[in-house]
Parts: sequence; C-alpha cells; structure tokens
Amino acid sequence: MKNTMTKLFAVLTLMAFTVLACQQEQKAPETEKTATSDPHSFSRPSEARGTHLDLELYVHFDRKELEGVARWTVEAAADATEIVFDTRQMHIDRVTVGEAENPVDFTLGEEDPLLGQVLRVPLPEYRKPSDKINIYYRTLPEAAALGWMEPEMTAGKKLPFLFTQGQAILTRTWIPCQDSPGLRITYTAQVTVPGGMMAVMSAENPQEKSGDGVYSFRMEQPIPPYLIALAVGDIAFKSVGPRTGVYAEPVLLDKAAWEFADMENMLTTAEGLYGPYDWGRYDLIVLPPGFPFGGMENPRLTFATPTILAGDRSLVSLVAHELAHSWSGNLVTNATWNDFWLNEGFTVYFERRIMEALYGLDYTNMLELLEYRELLDEIEYLGPESPDTRLKLDLAGRDPDEGMTDIAYQKGAAFLKMLEQTAGRERFDAFLKAWFDKHKFTSVTTEDFLAFLRENLLDKYQLEANVDEWVYQPGLPGNCPVPESDRFSKVEAQARAAMEKLPDTSGWTSHEWVHFVRNLPKEISPQRLQELDRAFQLSNTGNSELLAAWLETAIRRGYLAEVQPQLESFLTSMGRRRFLMPLYTALVDTGELDLARSIFAKAKDSYHAVSANSVEKLLDEAGQQ
Ligand SMILES: [Zn+2]
Repeated sequence: MKNTMTKLFAVLTLMAFTVLACQQEQKAPETEKTATSDPHSFSRPSEARGTHLDLELYVHFDRKELEGVARWTVEAAADATEIVFDTRQMHIDRVTVGEAENPVDFTLGEEDPLLGQVLRVPLPEYRKPSDKINIYYRTLPEAAALGWMEPEMTAGKKLPFLFTQGQAILTRTWIPCQDSPGLRITYTAQVTVPGGMMAVMSAENPQEKSGDGVYSFRMEQPIPPYLIALAVGDIAFKSVGPRTGVYAEPVLLDKAAWEFADMENMLTTAEGLYGPYDWGRYDLIVLPPGFPFGGMENPRLTFATPTILAGDRSLVSLVAHELAHSWSGNLVTNATWNDFWLNEGFTVYFERRIMEALYGLDYTNMLELLEYRELLDEIEYLGPESPDTRLKLDLAGRDPDEGMTDIAYQKGAAFLKMLEQTAGRERFDAFLKAWFDKHKFTSVTTEDFLAFLRENLLDKYQLEANVDEWVYQPGLPGNCPVPESDRFSKVEAQARAAMEKLPDTSGWTSHEWVHFVRNLPKEISPQRLQELDRAFQLSNTGNSELLAAWLETAIRRGYLAEVQPQLESFLTSMGRRRFLMPLYTALVDTGELDLARSIFAKAKDSYHAVSANSVEKLLDEAGQQ
C-alpha cells in the first residue's frame, strides 16, 4: 500500500483503541484470540484451515449489499471438530456441507469492535475431506471494506461504482474467511453485476464487458485474504504493453493509458533487479477519487487513486511502489501485521531501485530526501523512545492500521539501504533475489528474515551490522543513511530567498516544487504567498502532491482566505487520506474547526469509510478540547 498515516490521526486512533483494548481485557477475550500466533484473527489454522475459496456473489447497488456464498475447501486435522472463520459487518444466512448442502448448526461469537465476530462451523463426522463448507451470507451497507460510490462520485457520473479495500483486516467484512496474512489461499469467483458494468478482481481479468453481467475469475497463485479485491463499475480496458494495461472509466481511459505508458518498462526493469514476475499480467485500475489510498497492490491488478493522473507522468513512482509489491508483500508476505515492515520497507527500497534504474540517481535522491524528512517528522511526533518506532511492532489489541506509519516504510527502507552499503550493492542484490526466490508464495516473520540475513549475507561475508538495534530498538540508529541532493540544496536556498525574490524555477521537477513549498520560511507574509501564487499558479496546479503541500502551507501561513475555494474543491473531490489528514489537521491547528466541519459535512458521503472515520475522529477530538 502506498500511503502513510498522518501524525494526528495516529495519536487519535491510538487513544481510541487503547480504550477498546482495555474494555476487551475486562470482558475476558475469547480463547480463539490467544490460540493463533496472529493477534488479529480468530482462526485456528493448525486445526482446520480453508485452502481454496469458490466465491459466488451478486452485487446489489440499490441496497449496498453483496449477497452470495463462500464455498471453502477445508484441510482439517484428524481430530478437528470445527473450523473457525473471521466475520464482521455481515449477516450469515446459513451454512451447509458438501454438494448435498446438508445444513450444519453454526455459531457466531460476540461482536468485537475491532476483530468482528468469530464464526464456528462444526465439521460433522459424515463429512468427506472433499466436501466444501458453504457459507451463505449478505454484507451490511456499512461493511468497512466496501466503497460504494454514487454516480456523482465517479468520473462519468452515470453509473455507480464499487471497490473493496481488504488490508489490513477488512476482507472479513465482505467474505467470511480466515483473515490472517500468514494464511494463503487460491480462489475462483463468479460475480454478477448490473447490465453495462464490468467486474474486475485480483485475478485473471476480462478486457471487455460481458453481455449478461456475469464474470468469472481465477487466481491460481496462493495469496493471503487481504489481497482478494473486487471493483465494479463502468470500466474499460486499454493495453499499454504485452503484459500490461490500464482499466478506468471510459472518460479517463486515454489519460490513464498515457500517464502509465512506462508500465511495461517498469516491469522489465523490476525483473532485471530481483527475478521473474510470477503473476502473469500486471494491470492497473484507476478508481474513483473516493479511494482512500494512493495505491493498493492487489495481485495482477493494482488499485490506484486518480490523484496520480498529473498529466505529466510525475507521480508514477506510485506505480513502481505497487509493482514492487509483486515481490515484497504479495510473493513474500508479512506473517502478521507486527511484521508489516517486511512488506513496506522492502517495497520502498525496491521502488527506489526501479526509479533509479529508469530515471536516474539525481531524481531518486530527491524522492528519498522528501521521504526521509517525513520519517524524521514521524519519529519526532511519535517520540524517539516510542515502541511504535521499532521495526518489529506489537499491535496485539490494537488496529493494525496503527502500524501504517513512516516507520515501516521509511525506517524499513533505510535499514535495507544500510545493509546494502555494508555489503556492497552486488552482494546485497544477489542476497535479496535469493530471499524472494526461496520464500516465494510463503508468509514470513521478522525473525525468519533475520536468520536468513545472518546466514546468507552477514556471516557469509563476515560483516558486522547493528541489526538488533535497527529492528528491536526505538528511534533511528546513528548509522542511518542520510540522503543528499544537490538539487534540493539549491531549492532550499531559493526558498529562503523567496521573501525577497521569485525563484528561478527553470528545469524544476514536481519534487523540487514540493520541496520549495514545504521549505518556505515560517515568517513569509500572505502578500508574498499571493505573489508566488500569481506568478506560478500554485493554487491551480494539476499535480495533487504539489497542491496538497501548497494548500497546507497556505493555511498555516495565514493565506487561507485566498485559497479557500480551491481547498474546498480539493477536499470535496477526492478522498485520499494522505491529502485529507494534513489539510484538516492544519485547519484544526489554526482555529478553523468550523470551516473544517462544514467542508467535511459536504464531502463525507464521497469518502471511503477508512478516510471518513479518520477525519471524523480528528474533528471530534478537536471539538472536545
Ligand atoms: Zn506499499
């Protein structure tokens, strides 16, 4: 996933879930929770686990409901008497066994606000090993994974749109499953949608609309449940290379295909670094602006926000990031959300290597430095001694989304870069390639990685590295690589001088623009900001990263009145949390809570639950202070 949580959101959810965690302890958590090594799943895979899913779904836009059946192929120990699934925000109609559909008496546990309800299905003695467990169910309109977009929230404005977001523990809100990243399954699906719409999944996909609204899917490589994904809407396809293509609403299709023209090249470059791409095709779908993240690495089909359609290909590092996940995350997966840095730190490192190979070191250094600054801010915000600044996290009893900070992404990538510098690039690349190859289609823990690291890199070449400090200690170790960028040094000088004169911006990339805006002096006057705005049309830029940085600076430096129309239009036209949270936070910090509330009231229905809940918490907490 590409997106990190903003600071204020982190502390608010932390507070909220600390309260929840305390409540759970008081009412004695169910035994299932302690019976698995994954604190975020009720399942007991060592007794019985689902290995393959056949899903049949009907998509009802009118009542915001998925209705259907999940047929699970089950592997059970000889003495297993039941199989345990995770469910949340759904209604279970009935459960049957085998082709004869013999009904069985299932039970649903008490609702846990974070983990949902445990579904226990007895495994009757007459059941043959080949008999599937069939769970008939309907999702609730508030199911957290499901983004139901009204027609006016789409680009075409004619048909509604649905997308799912499973990571971290939301797949259980649309499929009854054993929702742990440590468990892998294969699946097929048959999805029926209203006429004129196309369905696509993290699987082999159609490239044209079907006549009858019925679509069939197959994912033959085993994946963890959080990577099952579905999108339904007025979707069309355009090829950009032999193995790559773009899905989007028809009005966006050409623009998207142009923006992502480099996808095939990226794919070949990635394979050149760390070995063959194991998933067949690599396509990307541009979702409606309500999608809460930058991108989500659903296998074979990256889900992406339309806010990266900058019109100048300047934000394609996001594609490099999601593509890199085809190795780190999807091929080799974190076993629990405490090991999240194995997914994201590796992916950020890999993303930069792709960007360096394609666009050069200069360009990549700027990207790295922008993110390094964000990492320093994150550590300052969390506190350098905070346990949440360790790579290996302890998220038991908390929402795994709280682990979605710059630590997993940026400290994780810095750790790998330190190892690269210690070993030399050639040895490190061979080591990483072997890591992916030896662990493909498995889920791994931090400890698995450290053992492999010692044996295949450190001990092998007799190298020393402060590995335990990096992984298990808070803060940033003294040998953290600090990225340098000459181009950024020049930008910083121009930002300091911006009080007196306009910058010379010839040859600037969007990275330089973002860095310039973020480094404008604190004491710069609103008049000066207006002159910059008039000269460079910053409030009207089509680059969402730059617009977000500019609007935040404008709010915090007293230039809000002038940019308010653009701010309102930005906040009501997209739901990407990376942009929403800093802007709402800036409004709160500068005493503009009423304005923040009135914008949110207009925008709320167009945000996905992930974003709407984050903003709502922020504004509620601000109101109580
Ligand atoms: Zn990611």
